[in-house]
Amino acid sequence: MTQPALPTFADVEAAAARLRGVSHKTPVLTSTTLNDLLGAEVYFKAESLQRMGAFKFRGAYNALAQFSPEQRRAGVVAFSSGNHAQGVALAARILGIPATILMPSDAPAMKIAATRGYGANVVTYDRYKEDREALGRKLAEDGGLTLVPPYDHFDVIAGQGTAAKELFEEVGALDALFAPLGGGGLLSGTLLSAKALAPQCQVFGVEPEAGNDAQQSLRKGSIVHIDTPVTLADGAQTQHLGNLTFAIIQRDVTDILTATDAELVEAMRFFGSRMKQVVEPTGCLGLAGLKTVAEQWRGKRVGIIISGGNVDLARYAQLVADSA
Ligand SMILES: *Cc1c(COP(=O)(O)O)cnc(C)c1O
Repeated sequence: MTQPALPTFADVEAAAARLRGVSHKTPVLTSTTLNDLLGAEVYFKAESLQRMGAFKFRGAYNALAQFSPEQRRAGVVAFSSGNHAQGVALAARILGIPATILMPSDAPAMKIAATRGYGANVVTYDRYKEDREALGRKLAEDGGLTLVPPYDHFDVIAGQGTAAKELFEEVGALDALFAPLGGGGLLSGTLLSAKALAPQCQVFGVEPEAGNDAQQSLRKGSIVHIDTPVTLADGAQTQHLGNLTFAIIQRDVTDILTATDAELVEAMRFFGSRMKQVVEPTGCLGLAGLKTVAEQWRGKRVGIIISGGNVDLARYAQLVADSA
């Protein structure tokens, strides 16, 4: 079997050129309280402040911007109940491409409304009875639509890598970098930028403890499939890595760590109370992961990607209040 072509840092640079003036160059935040507590210098890349509230806009826009005129006319299709849907919908609106998004009929009304608000045609399906991948493929074949998957895609990975590229360009080399991990698009893009801009930097992916398929895959040397994990981190409820993301992660990652739901809630409270940042549970994986190995990074410079901030406010209030 021939290996699929993997994106490189040159592809991340090309993505950054496409995104210039379109995506936000998100701020890098610091907290003296946290630095004193951990004895480290920690730099947060706040993708919660990216357009549509998560890094997903970067990969979606980078993919859609490269559509041919025929692909643009026919439109894009994506399936997602979360941030990828909104990223594709917003990128499609900016580029004038019709977007169809398949969402489970029981997805939060707020997320369906937000996706429709970006102008997408939302098609709902029964997640217990219908196979979304088959539905997506059928829509793609019948209407000539181009399917853009959430993580296992050359241009999506390259786009996601632009967040870490901006971080290194702003703060210089780091000793370690911690990134949330679901299907691995963000982590693989991050690895491409880290290897090019800070080759000594150790890069860690952090996934929910209940869904540690990537950690298992790394230990085993092949992609492990699991049942949909039950976790607060709804952006990382993936069942397996992709072929492209696994190849890059296996080649370049230092290690994969996990965080419990309780650790995510603790990080959410810290972001809210000390840094005044609303971060969704999945976006807290990086900080929660660092805290499990903080001793090793005393006296070092550490980066953390805050991947997103989309959380229903009532839910957010409940989570931060319950953990008191
Ligand atoms: C999608 C998502 C992730 C996981 O990204 P992958 O590329 O699937 O690994 C992490 N955090 C947030 C907020 C997300 O939306």
